[in-house]
Amino acid sequence: MKIEKKHIAILGSTGSIGTQALEVIKANPESFVVEVLTGNSNADLLIQQAIEFKPNAVVIADESKYQKVKAALDPQDIKVFAGNKAIEQVVQMDSINIVLAAIVGYAGLASTISAIKAKKNIALANKETLVVAGELVTALAKENGVNIYPVDSEHSAIFQCLAGEFTTANPSSGGWENPIEKIYLTASGGPFRGKDKNFLASVKKEQALKHPNWDMGAKITIDSATLMNKGLEVIEAKWLFSLKAEQIEVIVHPQSIIHSIVQFKDGSMKAQMGLPDMKLPIQYALAYPKRIASTFERFNFVDYPALTFEKPDTNTFRCLSLAYEAMKKGGNAPCILNAANEVAVQAFLTDKISFLKIADVIEGTLTKAPFISRPSYDNYVASDKETRALALGLCK
Ligand code: NAD
Ligand code: MG
Repeated sequence: MKIEKKHIAILGSTGSIGTQALEVIKANPESFVVEVLTGNSNADLLIQQAIEFKPNAVVIADESKYQKVKAALDPQDIKVFAGNKAIEQVVQMDSINIVLAAIVGYAGLASTISAIKAKKNIALANKETLVVAGELVTALAKENGVNIYPVDSEHSAIFQCLAGEFTTANPSSGGWENPIEKIYLTASGGPFRGKDKNFLASVKKEQALKHPNWDMGAKITIDSATLMNKGLEVIEAKWLFSLKAEQIEVIVHPQSIIHSIVQFKDGSMKAQMGLPDMKLPIQYALAYPKRIASTFERFNFVDYPALTFEKPDTNTFRCLSLAYEAMKKGGNAPCILNAANEVAVQAFLTDKISFLKIADVIEGTLTKAPFISRPSYDNYVASDKETRALALGLCK
């Protein structure tokens, strides 16, 4: 099958996912072209990336850095824009056919929605988009004939396990039969696996920022330490694969070799495995449906004589239970969960609250913020804003 080159917009190119995506693109110039790069405030890196990859346009969200980026890229004939609205506009460019949504947090929602409305396929790293507004975003994708390819390693694993499984159309119903009985999302357990509340009471951000298996941005690294990352991923999986809460189970697997598992309705299970390296799921999402050859380090069984599994400790790591509760409640509850978590994580990273207080802030905010059962986009925007104020109040 001849596959055209993918013309890619990378939203959040200066981050952990963004820079790894550029490594994948650099290694595969016959498959990928960079159309757009965007960053929040790291002007130097954005300029350096633009000079190397020669996109059509770049956007720097922080408007105070506009002149600097423009002066550097004008001679290169690269268009430069500034501000978050410009990110929403630039994703609609005709030449783009896939958008890598790799901005962190709620800040990535508007641009992802804008790209979907412009009928661009999405490689989705920004899980918060589906946590906040999964129902709306998946409905919009369907309406616009847009595919959402997961970048998150667990969801990429599920997606890879599902390849070829939806080919048995049920002729009498005329539809596709969902063959999934349940999925197991694997979790490393993070840097504090096995620790109790006494230990966690005094942990500092430097300890929380040391993830045993993955090197990621600060926010997701803290989320991994609290297990909120797995909670967000449970909600992300619900929307990506049309699952009910009871069909999603989290299992701690400290070696991070099995990236997730699908159990089908005949009881058969498929797992996807490999060494932990985000470049693989990034490349799979960008190149789909093709598998491109890579030089990523290969797994060696003898190096891992034991792959182990255990139940998550949700008494100590309450964020995971809070996420399940918010998902079951539905409406704007996951939006509230997400906003409270973003505020609490920021407060922890700036030494304003302790590690254990993160879950307290989220739980307190969930009980205080007004519930909306069928939120519109505007409701989500208002709810996010209101929740942040409430959560900030609880961080004092
Ligand atoms: P990061 O903090 O390293 O990078 C975030 C990127 O978003 C940067 O380019 C930054 O400039 C940009 N950004 C931040 N705030 C912005 C704003 N207000 N407006 C515009 N741009 C803004 O984060 P990351 O680790 O690369 O994670 C990105 C997303 O991918 C997150 O949603 C995360 O959960 C998800 N993800 C990351 C990994 C990983 O290994 N890093 C794995 C799975 C999923
Ligand atoms: Mg993940």
